Amino acid sequence: MSDLITIALAKGRILKETLPLLERAGIRPLDDLDKSRKLIFETNHDNINLVLIRSADVPTYVQYGAADMGIAGKDVLLEHGGEGLYEWLDLHIAPCKLMTAGFADKPLPDGRLKVATKYTAITRDYFLQQGRQVELIKLYGSMELAPIVGLADMIVDLVDTGNTLKANGLAPKEFIMQISSRLIVNRAALKMKNRAIKQVIEKIDAAVITGE
Ligand code: AMP
Repeated sequence: MSDLITIALAKGRILKETLPLLERAGIRPLDDLDKSRKLIFETNHDNINLVLIRSADVPTYVQYGAADMGIAGKDVLLEHGGEGLYEWLDLHIAPCKLMTAGFADKPLPDGRLKVATKYTAITRDYFLQQGRQVELIKLYGSMELAPIVGLADMIVDLVDTGNTLKANGLAPKEFIMQISSRLIVNRAALKMKNRAIKQVIEKIDAAVITGE
């Protein structure tokens, strides 16, 4: 019998694009992930289970081997640091840009800028590389509010359509990096369950649409 493989999936925006990818890979959950309140799902493959968790937790589950594989945004992987896991494949899903953003037509104040973000590690690196001194303010969501209430001069967040920024009177400013979701694999599991993991990777690899 083949080793049991657990794949960690992120709830929310990425899931909408992950399910069609898995479908193309021939991996079908037995319950509706969007509707069910379950956290663990069996699939049409006896040896493949899915766990549904918050996106920022996906690398942690895979790092510790609680899941053998996972699907997570590059943003989340960079913040996590990637310890204990391989970033195996670019899945070309949930594409977006990591950007700085601020008021559309208000110049930035002089001196040390206050930057609010969930992505403190990436943001620290970005400004350090540019030799710009900033004060980082860690938030866990709704970053767009920070400039409006005077908590920060600018934010660093993911931008897709730009509608969220626009709705809050903000505009994208500096491009930091392109983001998409990646297939990650636990390092130890790749050795211990090599055959089963390689089979799953092959299925998913064949289902990737690069858009080129
Ligand atoms: P939008 O209004 O389309 O620019 O989307 C921006 C909002 O969606 C922000 O709150 C982002 O953090 C979030 N977002 C955009 N793209 C992604 C993505 N690929 N993965 C996760 N969150 C995203």
